[in-house]
Amino acid sequence: MPAYDPSNIFARILRGEIPNDTVLETPHTLAFRDIRPQAPVHVLVIPKGAYVSYDDFAANAPDAEIVDFHRAVARVTRDLGVDLDQGQGFRAITNAGEHGVQEVPHFHLHILGGRSMGRMVQPG
Ligand code: 5GP
Repeated sequence: MPAYDPSNIFARILRGEIPNDTVLETPHTLAFRDIRPQAPVHVLVIPKGAYVSYDDFAANAPDAEIVDFHRAVARVTRDLGVDLDQGQGFRAITNAGEHGVQEVPHFHLHILGGRSMGRMVQPG
């Protein structure tokens, strides 16, 4: 696992150095709108802890942070009306590393909805 780079843009958002459009904040998790939305709903859910990627978070975060993160995802889908009780669903994506084409090296889950998201993976 590469070392966590505390200068990445999401670390700067967490430190309050850069503004963000917050959707939800919990003790261990922040959700905010993507600056370049790919769908009518495009929210990034990130842990406040320093984790490079999903596998880093899943392997190394304390249980309380993992539970908080996933409960936050559920609240975001409900609050934005894309959950299956109210809406027509969503896609959750996390990119990791070079082959995942991860731009920001702080674990984040994209929540995309508000339209059909089409096929899951386009030809590379
Ligand atoms: P990745 O390719 O790492 O999975 O996705 C990174 C995402 O972060 C991209 O969708 C990009 O638009 C978003 N992003 C990059 N910089 C900023 C920023 O300063 N603010 C917000 N809200 N989103 C950002």
